[in-house]
Amino acid sequence: MECDLKTSRRTACRLSADSRIDIEFQDLSYTVPEGRNGSKLILRSVNGRFQSGELSAILGPSGAGKSTLLNVLAGYKVHHATGQVSINGRLRNLKDFGKISRYIMQDDLVQPMLTVQESMMVAANLKLDLNATQQEKCNAIQEILDLLRLTSTVDTRTTELSGGQRKRLSIALELLNNPPVLFLDEPTTGLDDLSCSQCIALLKQIALGGRTVVCSIHTPSASIFSKFDSVYIMSMGQCIYQGFGLDVVFFLSNLDLHCPKHYNPADFIIEVASGEYGNYQEKLVSTIDNGRIKYCEKNDTRLTESERKFSVNGIYAEDDTPEIHSNYPKEKLGWMQQYKILLMRMWVQMWRDKCYMLLRVILHIITGVLIGNVYLGMGVDGSKTLFVFGFYFICLIFFMYIPMMPCLLQFPREFQLIKREHFNKWYRLSAYFAALTTSTLPVHLVLGCIYVMLVYFLTNQPMELNRLSMFYFICMMTAVISESLGLLIASQFSIVNSVFVGPVIAVPFMLLAVYGFGGGYYSIPKWIRIAMYCSYLRYSLEGLIQTMLTGREKLACPEHEEFCIYTDLEYFVKEIGMQDNIIWIDIAALVVIYLIFRGGFYYLLRQRLSPNKTFIALAYVGRLVKAQFAR
Ligand code: ADP
Repeated sequence: MECDLKTSRRTACRLSADSRIDIEFQDLSYTVPEGRNGSKLILRSVNGRFQSGELSAILGPSGAGKSTLLNVLAGYKVHHATGQVSINGRLRNLKDFGKISRYIMQDDLVQPMLTVQESMMVAANLKLDLNATQQEKCNAIQEILDLLRLTSTVDTRTTELSGGQRKRLSIALELLNNPPVLFLDEPTTGLDDLSCSQCIALLKQIALGGRTVVCSIHTPSASIFSKFDSVYIMSMGQCIYQGFGLDVVFFLSNLDLHCPKHYNPADFIIEVASGEYGNYQEKLVSTIDNGRIKYCEKNDTRLTESERKFSVNGIYAEDDTPEIHSNYPKEKLGWMQQYKILLMRMWVQMWRDKCYMLLRVILHIITGVLIGNVYLGMGVDGSKTLFVFGFYFICLIFFMYIPMMPCLLQFPREFQLIKREHFNKWYRLSAYFAALTTSTLPVHLVLGCIYVMLVYFLTNQPMELNRLSMFYFICMMTAVISESLGLLIASQFSIVNSVFVGPVIAVPFMLLAVYGFGGGYYSIPKWIRIAMYCSYLRYSLEGLIQTMLTGREKLACPEHEEFCIYTDLEYFVKEIGMQDNIIWIDIAALVVIYLIFRGGFYYLLRQRLSPNKTFIALAYVGRLVKAQFAR
């Protein structure tokens, strides 16, 4: 990750886009299902175009459909959209468009625990050409950080950046492989006036390099409004104006809507769009034909014929059609390299989160000492066999909750980051999945070892290496299965819902693990018996009992006890109905369950990021059900 930015050369080429991309859309509609009435039309046959070399802004009152339009244009939400989006006059191919465009979402989440320079280097390693040298990467980083005025923050952790700096970093990360098209959802939200105008000035500079920069913006100040090369104003899912920002005053005055002197034109048109000056929306929509006509200049109120032809048909003359060249790396990084970079990033983040790591170590030591003392020396006490059984169960519950809870709390947030990085084609999801699976393994092994050693010796379990290692192995299997279950849940729910669903799902697993012990197995209804064998905790418990309580000599009964019923451990195992269990079947079942849960997590994560038709249908049904309940 090393890069001496002070010695990096500044090169000019990176800041100018190699290919010019013009985006045009026609009859774009977007519908979402709503309540019993069926659906809600959010975008209503809108038209428009955004040109390269221009900074374009989508404006409008809240709820006008700005984010929806941006989502559809960026290709982020296309399932309920109809209409046509053309790139340089050709119908958009989403896959190809994904390679040349980047989408910076509103919530400027950045990877925690890394410095600005490290974040940029990770992005450079993942996104730049495989053959790019370290110096070339450093130069690219330096140049972008210069442009976005982040050079003074190179050694600052991302979590310590101000709101404006964080926003600029999220733009810088996406500028690395020089995308010709940049979409930004409300890039100025949450910024103070100065940061706001700095941010827009930077976007303008980026656009001047030949890029197509489109952003949605809520209520810009007059000075910011004047910086846009083109504004696209929306009201109730339709376009009411498209053209140069300040021309809006002349455009409205033609319709007898006079912007008061010293009044911000942006505020004025938004007020008009909100209906504060009467019901002008429909008139405005029809005047510019819902975005088909671009208002140009004071004296030239409409497009020239040829421009209009372009705008209406959305097709360039064949000679004018530029090729789409993307700056996407020619030689892409392989899966293995992506995996290594992501794994390193995860390990660095874990290592830097020292307080959390220390807390986990202390927690394992305290719990180990506590449980070890509660069951002190009972492993060889013939009067305490039932207690030892309870001890095994408690150990499994510990290894169920401890790895699961952090996933439920952390992964929903992490998902938002993956969503952004994956949508912007940083890496393959399988590489991320493999890195995530590997990254937590050493932590489980070390922390699990601390706990197991403490409780094993304090409770005086048999001092045999094979029993100790099998005890440790089963505990570790329980931990990684629980982690997979936690990830599976957290990949589908918000933090609040995950933290509720996770422990609730754990309850039947615990219940089914011990259900029917003590006899009467065959009197248990068949469906419960099937359910019992779906609980991974049951296999873990059976495995521990087989490992620790079979093949041992009779235990001694302490002198102060009159009678010890379970000194013969084989007899105890028979009494609880486990004499027929085969340890290797339990181990095999744990491995299979682990693979199912991990595979399930990967599948559901992939579906959440890019759902197939079944999942789109399920999401649709889910929204309908939700809408019914919301009534
Ligand atoms: P803006 O960005 O202009 O504030 P949005 O594009 O976010 O507006 O939303 C436009 C309208 O569509 C709003 O009224 C919003 O409530 C509605 N909307 C957006 N997404 C959904 C959805 N998934 N279900 C129902 N209504 C939605």
